[in-house]
Amino acid sequence: MTESEKTHTGGCLCGGVRYRISGALRGVIACHCSQCRRTSGHYAAMTSAPSANIVMTSSGSLAWYRSSDTAERGFCGRCGGNLFWKQAGQDTISITAGTLDTPTNLRVEEHIFVADKSDYYTIDDGVPRKQEW
Ligand SMILES: [Zn+2]
Ligand SMILES: [Zn+2]
Repeated sequence: MTESEKTHTGGCLCGGVRYRISGALRGVIACHCSQCRRTSGHYAAMTSAPSANIVMTSSGSLAWYRSSDTAERGFCGRCGGNLFWKQAGQDTISITAGTLDTPTNLRVEEHIFVADKSDYYTIDDGVPRKQEW
């Protein structure tokens, strides 16, 4: 099976939100910005896929929060799971990597908004870092 034929599944803790993604996923980007810190509780590690490749197999508890003028965050209104990030006008959706069923076969490829990270941890995994996007 080639990478593009793979299917990934995932969901939140309570199962109220479940999704299936066909095709390859982008490598994981870890975002340390203040919005990702406050919604994730730490930093957000996200992969991404074309919206057309994502099917919601369960979405009864899926809720969206408009976190800025240009972006929305999808989460579970029951268990609080932090699942999606979507930018207005984009045809891709970012998916929190921790909600994917394992094995994901993905790796963290980049840290972004490192200038905004909190002060209680260090980033020393050797992965490239960007001060902003
Ligand atoms: Zn849930
Ligand atoms: Zn962020």
